[in-house]
Amino acid sequence: MAITGECFCGAVRYQVAAPLRNARSCHCSRCRKAFSAQASAYAEVEPGSFSWLAGEELLTTFATHADFGLQFCGRCGSTLCGLYAGQVHGVTLGCVNGDPEVEIGQHIFVGSKASWEVMPQGVTAYEEGPPASSE
Ligand SMILES: [Zn+2]
Ligand SMILES: [Zn+2]
Repeated sequence: MAITGECFCGAVRYQVAAPLRNARSCHCSRCRKAFSAQASAYAEVEPGSFSWLAGEELLTTFATHADFGLQFCGRCGSTLCGLYAGQVHGVTLGCVNGDPEVEIGQHIFVGSKASWEVMPQGVTAYEEGPPASSE
């Protein structure tokens, strides 16, 4: 069964035909701004498994880096996906509908988390980036 997701206003909808992978949460200052939250919550999609169902014309793209970008609903502002080299690289977990059957496996850049965030106990956390083997 395909995973589906949509923005806050519901105008932009997508589906992902393969399991999500490498779910993670980054607590750095840039991700806090990009996700308007204490951290990002993001998982990668299998190449070729992602497709837009509705509202693609409403998307606004913000290039964060030469090859990286984020795409938002231009109407309600939800951040829906990350781009790499012009292709959808992953989705924001907050916009996924229901249970995507993936859990955040890594909390990264916890060393630069917001002063007001209290980290839950027992999660896998790294002061900076993830260990080289997992990226
Ligand atoms: Zn929207
Ligand atoms: Zn980050």
